[in-house]
Amino acid sequence: MFKALYVEKTESGQQVTLREQAEADMPEGDVTIRVQWSSLNYKDALALTGKGPIIRNWPMVPGIDLAGRVEASVHPAVPVGQDVIVTGHGLGESRWGGFAQLARVPGLWAVPQPLGLNGRQVMALGTAGFTAMLCVQALQREGVEPASGPVLVTGASGGVGSVAIMLLSRLGYQVVAVTGRLEEQPYLHSLGAAEVLPRAHFTTPSRPLEKARWAGAVDVVGGQVLASVCASMRPQGVVTACGLAGGMDFPATVAPFILRGVTLVGIDSVQCPRRERQDAWARLAELIPPRQLDDMVREIDLAEAPQAADMLLAGHVRGRLVVRIP
Ligand code: NDP
Repeated sequence: MFKALYVEKTESGQQVTLREQAEADMPEGDVTIRVQWSSLNYKDALALTGKGPIIRNWPMVPGIDLAGRVEASVHPAVPVGQDVIVTGHGLGESRWGGFAQLARVPGLWAVPQPLGLNGRQVMALGTAGFTAMLCVQALQREGVEPASGPVLVTGASGGVGSVAIMLLSRLGYQVVAVTGRLEEQPYLHSLGAAEVLPRAHFTTPSRPLEKARWAGAVDVVGGQVLASVCASMRPQGVVTACGLAGGMDFPATVAPFILRGVTLVGIDSVQCPRRERQDAWARLAELIPPRQLDDMVREIDLAEAPQAADMLLAGHVRGRLVVRIP
């Protein structure tokens, strides 16, 4: 038996309970992992509260992230005793996820934890940090360099935003953070933001082209904010879009793309191939000083996750929530 957070459908919606599960009820898979740490992402918050259609198979053990040690394996690439990370691939959506003491997954989903970071530290980053790394790598691939000009990060106090600021400032970029919580200015500067702007500057409908200011952008918000960001990019600027914290829509015009050569790059961490995952985790371990993670992380228990999910969706969580698995 093992402890798991369990979400099942009820007549009035869904119910979340912390309960004992039988190992026999676990899905098939090559690798069984003793989970030590997980994390609470935006998607997990939607799954736990039922506010977004995240869960695709019922009942579900949510948790899109996990870090732990391989307890049993029939996969040649994943030896017993190895410390691994699993994120995305439908974990916690269509397949039982990381909010449990045990998880079973296809072997190729498990990537070794990078040298220099322990399980708690990789989950302090989790899908949010991994996605921030994919955004930064995309900016670099598209030719945005520190000398190109300032790089904007929206949803700056959240998980993806916080890690994106850290990474970009470590790489020498001038980072401008956009936040709805101006009281978090000292925190955002401590992560490396050179300047902090209020979200309100980006929430009113923009003209097709605004003053050209940004060489690059990491956007986690979507909606009007993403449209306003695109309208204020410099010629040849690059915007990475990974989130929808402010909405699914995109009320933009084609002007920035056809008159300034702006590139919009979509970022998907879920289906990211294994080789790119390993590269991104290795880069994270290289760039993020583990002690800097402490300032942006709060630790919670499995039982606290449902309440923390409400807080996160209300925009009251700063940085990342790491989940201690008993
Ligand atoms: P968090 O909740 O940690 O951060 C989101 C931040 O966005 C908040 O902290 C807040 O920042 C801002 N925000 C919240 N609500 C609104 C709103 N209504 N309007 C404008 N801004 C808002 O989430 P994550 O950082 O973990 O994830 C951010 C987004 O990225 C989510 O939509 C998530 O689904 C997506 N995502 C996508 C991935 C992918 O593979 N494409 C992977 C990971 C995440 P502030 O208060 O500073 O303004």
